[in-house]
Amino acid sequence: MENNHTMMQYFEWYLPENGLHWRRCAAQAGKIREAGVDMVWLPPAYKGAAGSKSVGYDVYDTYDLGEFDQKGSIRTKYGTREEYLEAVRSLQTQGVRVLADIVLNHRMGADGTETVLAEEMLNTDRNQEVGEDRQITAWTRFDFPGRGGKYSAFQWRARHFSGTDWDEGGKRKGIFRFAGKNWERKIDQENGNYDYLMGADLDTDQPEVVKETADWGKWYLDTVHMDGFRLDAVKHIGFDFYREWLKTMRAHAGRELFAVGEYWSKDVGRLKYYLDALENSLYLFDVPLHFHFLEAATSDGNYDMSRLYENTLTGLDPAHAAPFVDNHDTQPGQALYSFIPAWFKPIAYALILLRESGLPCVFYGDYYGIPHDGIAPVRGLPYLMKIRELYAYGKENLYFDDASVVGFTREGDGQHTDSGTAVLLTDSTAGSKRMYVGRHHAGKCMTDVMGGIPETVTVGDDGWAWFRVNGGSVSVWVFQKAWERLYTEIPVS
Ligand code: CA
Repeated sequence: MENNHTMMQYFEWYLPENGLHWRRCAAQAGKIREAGVDMVWLPPAYKGAAGSKSVGYDVYDTYDLGEFDQKGSIRTKYGTREEYLEAVRSLQTQGVRVLADIVLNHRMGADGTETVLAEEMLNTDRNQEVGEDRQITAWTRFDFPGRGGKYSAFQWRARHFSGTDWDEGGKRKGIFRFAGKNWERKIDQENGNYDYLMGADLDTDQPEVVKETADWGKWYLDTVHMDGFRLDAVKHIGFDFYREWLKTMRAHAGRELFAVGEYWSKDVGRLKYYLDALENSLYLFDVPLHFHFLEAATSDGNYDMSRLYENTLTGLDPAHAAPFVDNHDTQPGQALYSFIPAWFKPIAYALILLRESGLPCVFYGDYYGIPHDGIAPVRGLPYLMKIRELYAYGKENLYFDDASVVGFTREGDGQHTDSGTAVLLTDSTAGSKRMYVGRHHAGKCMTDVMGGIPETVTVGDDGWAWFRVNGGSVSVWVFQKAWERLYTEIPVS
């Protein structure tokens, strides 16, 4: 019996810097599985330039999983290497697959500088040179003295990088491309060429870099035994790189490791191009859908909900789509701030969790809230996750036939007891819609789990029923026995 899969991003930007997160993951493993999650994306586990304060994307040493006295501490923000390994084991024991966050675009926090001949490029067009080539002092020397060669003797030097954004000699910021280097050619074309993002940018064409990133990946697999990857910033890395790296990792592991990539673009065409280049060997987060949610939530009820899935990955290529609502970059205070307003969140989650299309990812900050910004957990989210796990099965009927009030039903299947659901939502005023649930459900009672509509609905002899929804909300209907089970298992919040 195949069950729905649900991924959860198990961190937000402002987790406490107390080193307890890995222990918390281990302690919560059972509850995570009970919540309906069977795949967890953990934050980057290796030492960042900011040491124990690093969220993990300012990568310093990928072999230091909280084991060496580097960058001011042994542990990372999340704990020690042993605690990380224990968290992974605990989750896997509960039947939760673990995804490691892979950050290979750049390095930060170098141990020393080198003098490098560089050409300065225009920030808005990285193919255009400004002025003459000149010597800069670049932070490109990574010796890892605190690790002392354990696990790997590899040391990074300027020849392994394509460029950087700081000249220590001139104390000057700029986009500096190292002489003799090219930006990646098969790459996102934003800013002319978006190979460069931050820090010392890895030259992923350089043979030593290809070998080292493969060697490290194998070491990481053999050490942690993760079940897959979340690939960071793929739009800034030559498109051939991960195609080959994933093949190497899967061959080494001897199993089909899951992979989902972060390609931050609203343009579904670029996502499709990347998927083609990667031979469809991974999922991508559905960034266009995230922005449709944002637009719908901020258009005063004037968004055309019938077009919500147009030009989204979930709409065009659901087999490779990972729809999500928010993440650690879109939350308040972060680089890609585009947080979905609270009123729309239950709507967005009902859509990503209960529709048949895509493999959804739930954000930690939505599930637990974000204390740093006084943000409460998303209302009803635990119910929606559980409905996905237990009841969102069977044929899907879509009713995206109105600019405001849209919905869908799942007819249920024979393998999942009491399965079947009806979902109605609106970005505008209250409404109702007649939807088909299935003739085999004739006479059954359905209840709105979200609590907005007090009266139950009885499915007609023809399998159809009228459903209602209040303004700016979502109603999610399940059969009587399903409702009783949900209310027994999940305390009302
Ligand atoms: Ca790059």
